[in-house]
Amino acid sequence: MRSSEATRIYFDRAADCLDLSAGIRRQLLGAKREVQVQIPVELDSGEMATYVGYRVQHNDARGPMKGGLRYHPQVDLDEVRALAALMTWKTAVVNLPYGGAKGGIALDPTKLSRRELERVTRRFVDAIHDLFGPDVDIPAPDMGTTAEVMAWIMNQYDKYHGFSPACVTGKPIDYHGIPGREEATGRGVGALTLKLLSRLGRRIPGTRVAIQGFGNVGTHTAKFLHDAECTIVAVSDADGGFQRPEGLDVLACLRHAREHGGRLAGFTGGDALTNAELLAIDCDVLIPAALGGVLTKANAATVKAPIVVEAANAPIEADADAIFDERGIVVAPDILVNAGGVTASYFEWVQNRQHYQWGVARVYQELDRVLGEAFEQVWQLSTSRKVPLRTAAYMLGVGRVARATILGGTA
Ligand code: NAD
Repeated sequence: MRSSEATRIYFDRAADCLDLSAGIRRQLLGAKREVQVQIPVELDSGEMATYVGYRVQHNDARGPMKGGLRYHPQVDLDEVRALAALMTWKTAVVNLPYGGAKGGIALDPTKLSRRELERVTRRFVDAIHDLFGPDVDIPAPDMGTTAEVMAWIMNQYDKYHGFSPACVTGKPIDYHGIPGREEATGRGVGALTLKLLSRLGRRIPGTRVAIQGFGNVGTHTAKFLHDAECTIVAVSDADGGFQRPEGLDVLACLRHAREHGGRLAGFTGGDALTNAELLAIDCDVLIPAALGGVLTKANAATVKAPIVVEAANAPIEADADAIFDERGIVVAPDILVNAGGVTASYFEWVQNRQHYQWGVARVYQELDRVLGEAFEQVWQLSTSRKVPLRTAAYMLGVGRVARATILGGTA
């Protein structure tokens, strides 16, 4: 199933519950603008390479569009389109004054030198600088992009438009970024996992958690839940992972990854396992925090965890989601649980515009408040309407965007 079909299914379900008209549905489903550009770049060898970059600006009914920029070989227009729509619903679920967008370049960042990545990033900005900006569309990091990439984006944008730190978020702290942004998504995933466990009447200490993906989101989620006395029984990255039923030494995993270019390969504190084995491991909470589409019709029946927390964007295909629903597996949806990153990005954008910087304690406090309120609203809606958390989250997000669209008028 294509990524955009899954988000369409969830949208339709919420739109039915909200009784939205066909006209509004059409307006909300389509993208405001889709851009595809060629990025010719000289490699360090002197050879020319050409990459393809995308930016899909889905909806701006509630404010400037906001969404990450992904560097990954599998990036294509359909995926970017689906992720852009997800951002519209996500910013609305957590009630930020934003719309949704997403971008990406089809490339493998591990195969390019730092200088090559910088050239690709700057050429991409050259191609689209008139189409984004602080009041229009504000990119941020996603898979394969870092704070440094965001710094290059701002620096290149400034060459055309003057000093504009709010044109992109997720920047380095020493280059107009804010403390707390880097760990915000993982912190949010962790904090909402704890809220869900409490709501389900489960004891938090000793909860067995397996995490797929040990990048930005996976590492910070692991650390947060480890600090909350959960037992991290397995972690993995693109090369596979490691398990230890009594609990991995998370700090040792983090140290190993830090010392080995972000990779877990060679870790000696657990038994090796494949990514397929990790998804099927005996645990209480399964957290896919890497790619989309990893839980499918083919492997949904093998999942033993009674709770799945979508730290990644769209890790569960719609067929698998239906199977989980039938099996009584509780799914905490991406548009709610991984909204910590965009929420902290919003704080960064606000501070850039005010030329004023908060301390990390205030960032955490505001982050916990925004996410906590959204979680409670989704939980209440799910309980009162007797629908899964995903449908409730879509109802909340799609409903807010629909109301803003109607209030804005069409004349
Ligand atoms: P990242 O690039 O920092 O890390 C990705 C991790 O996934 C790495 O450990 C990588 O080795 C691993 N991985 C890649 N391919 C894999 C595979 N086939 N099997 C298993 N692991 C694989 O990315 P990130 O920023 O941590 O993002 C992870 C997910 O979270 C993405 O779906 C992203 O869209 C989503 N997300 C990220 C943020 C954010 O603030 N970074 C916010 C919201 C959602």
